[in-house]
This record gives sequence, structure tokens and C-alpha cells, in this order.
Amino acid sequence: MKIETIAIVGAGTMGGGIAITCLMAGLRTTVVDLSEENLRALSIRMDRHFSRLVDKEKMTADEARDARSCLSLTRALSDVARSDLIIEAVFEDLSLKRKIFSQLAGELPPRSMVATNTSTLRLADLADALPDPSRFLGLHYFSPAEHNPLVELISGDQTKPEVLSAAQEFLKRTGKTQILCSDSTGFAINRFFCPYTNEAARLLVEGVATTGQIDDIAQRAFDLALGPFAVMNIVKPRISLNAVENLAALGPFYEPAQPLQKVGSTEGSWNIEDHVQPVHSSVEDIVVNRLQAALFFPILEALGEGVAQVEAFDLGARLALRFGKLPIATMREIGRDAVELVLEPLLQTYRASMPKAGLNRVFEHDSGNGQQELVLA
Ligand code: NAD
Repeated sequence: MKIETIAIVGAGTMGGGIAITCLMAGLRTTVVDLSEENLRALSIRMDRHFSRLVDKEKMTADEARDARSCLSLTRALSDVARSDLIIEAVFEDLSLKRKIFSQLAGELPPRSMVATNTSTLRLADLADALPDPSRFLGLHYFSPAEHNPLVELISGDQTKPEVLSAAQEFLKRTGKTQILCSDSTGFAINRFFCPYTNEAARLLVEGVATTGQIDDIAQRAFDLALGPFAVMNIVKPRISLNAVENLAALGPFYEPAQPLQKVGSTEGSWNIEDHVQPVHSSVEDIVVNRLQAALFFPILEALGEGVAQVEAFDLGARLALRFGKLPIATMREIGRDAVELVLEPLLQTYRASMPKAGLNRVFEHDSGNGQQELVLA
């Protein structure tokens, strides 16, 4: 089973970026979108991408022309059905994704594989809209997909091993590092990244610190280029809220903070002050502890559920989110007792229990190497 032709449904931020990675690997790629305007915008984005590479002498003009010529754009969903792999990248809306799969169902030859780029929805809630769920999987790219090296490869309950192997080969061919995840809300990376941004919004509404102060503290604590509010402004608070809302099914800790609901329900963004006033060290400690707990708790829960291998979380934090100080490494550095102490207030607030199975996995399964490029569960 070899993947030679790709189709992408959705010409937006993610669909366009995924298409670029496929073209760069010389794969014939068809992108479908209902919006003529978005297809035109993608065509311009492609031209810019390839001319930039030629300007920087990373490609010759002939190579760029050859790669670019592998792209077809269409408004007809039926045009994509003959591809080896179809990657769905439309809005994060369960009923829309299911509708597209139902429309595809009648057109799919038995050999086609279908993937979703959903950030937080479960494959189990989508799979039955397709004629053959054993050929369905998740390929969760991170933005910007043309540059971000990480992809979560998600196996649904019924995904066949040979479908996963073919997807692994495809990801390798397009230069991506992959982590294998089981089908769980938020998979491995958004499972902890969304709660971390949500906790920043809680600290704000509680008046602990301002957006700029929280960003500044987070940047130093986790060795990041951008703090949580600045990242949410790039992703767009509306999209961050949607992701957090999808995670809320996991329990009270995951429920969206009030200011995120407010900012995310408009097209607005966070107001981050230019001149950040320094905070007292006691405030800094509160912010760091709360953000650490919001990272550790969901990772430990996910580990207990077997969502991914221990190493996958630090690999994802480093490659997809660009954390310099990594959560699993930090837990191992401070030790189990200190981790439990950091978690205690969170557990009390949300009446949650200590994620012991996850702690056991972090502290009993120390491979001493968080740098593996392929992590299989
Ligand atoms: P986007 O809004 O930029 O693009 C979505 C595209 O889908 C639009 O061009 C729209 O016209 C098209 N579309 C909508 N309905 C369609 C239909 N019936 N047929 C064909 N095309 C249709 O969205 P995005 O940010 O690229 O997100 C797409 C998916 O990727 C979502 O599931 C999202 O959760 C996921 N994702 C997003 C990010 C991110 O940072 N933006 C990161 C990872 C995953």
C-alpha cells in the first residue's frame, strides 16, 4: 500500500500548509474547497512560497515549477475521491466533517485511505460516517504545517496496521516527525497545551497578574519565545476557545475559563500590554506553579489512559510548541514528591484524584532519552 496521490479537503491555513509539504515531496496533490476565493488565496500563497524558496536558493526555478505543477485546485469534492490518501482539513465542526465523509462515501474506491486533521475531536465520533473505518486515521499537523515538523498519527479503534504503516511512510517522505497517539480527546499535545492556555486565562480573571505579566513569566519559566496569550492571539482566541470547549468533556478542570469564553466568542484578541510591570516573586511562584500543574495534570492523566508513550509529550512540546523547558524532563528533575505538591491545589479545586498511573509511568519508565524521532505507543 503506497501513497502517491494526495487530496486535501479545505484550502485554509492547515489544508494549504499540508498541501505545500506534499508538493515539496513531489506528490500529486489536489485541494478542494467550496470557496473560490480561498482557492485563489491558496494559489497566491503557493506562488509566494515557491518564489521565496527560489530567491533563497533552496530550490532552482525548474524544481519549483515542477513541484508547483503537481497541484490541482477544484471546487468539486468528487475530484478528490480517486486519491490514495484524502486528508480532511475543514472547520473544526463535527457535523461538517461527518457530512463531508458521507458525501465522499459513495465515491471512494476501496483502496483509498481517509485522514482527518482534527485538533480535538475523537475519531470514534467520525469513523462511522465512512464506508470502511479500518482505512480511517488521524493526521494532526501543527501550524504552520509547511514548517512545523511534528504530526500526531492517530490510530482509531478500527484502523488497520497496514494503513498506519502507509501513513508513517508518507509522513517520513514529507519530512515529518511523528508521534503515535490513541484516539482520545485532544490526543497528546492539545491535551496539555489547551489547559495551559486556559489556566493563563484563569490567572487573569482571578487578578493574579496581567496578560503581559503572565506571558513574561511563562516565557522565562518554560523557555518559550511567546507566552500563552500571545500564542492564543496567533491561533485566534475563537479557535482556542473551540478547542478548549471540546476538551471540557474530560472533566471540570478542562472547562473553559470565563475570560476565554468572552474573548473567544468574539472575533477579538487578548489585549497584551507593551510595558510589563515587574511582579513580586511570590506572584511569580503562583503563576509558575499553576501553569506547571495545568501542564502536568493532563499529561499524567493521558499517560494513565495510554494516549501516547512518555517520550511523545516532551518531543511534541519541543518540536510542535517550541518549549525549551520540557514538562516530563521537569517532572523528573524536581521529583515525584514535588510534582504531587504542585498538583495538590488543582486536585482540591476540581475534586480530582492524583493521576497515579501517569506518575508511575513518568518515574518508573525513564528511558533517559526524550529525543527519539519516532515514538510508537
Ligand atoms: P480554515 O478556516 O483556515 O480553513 C478551513 C477551510 O475549509 C476553508 O477554506 C473553508 O472554505 C473550507 N471548507 C469549509 N467547508 C467546506 C466544505 N464543505 N468543502 C470544502 N471545503 C470546505 O481552518 P484551519 O485553521 O485550516 O483548520 C482546519 C482544521 O485543522 C480544523 O479541524 C482545525 O481544528 C485543524 N487544525 C487547525 C490548526 C490551526 O492552528 N489553525 C492546527 C491544527 C489543526
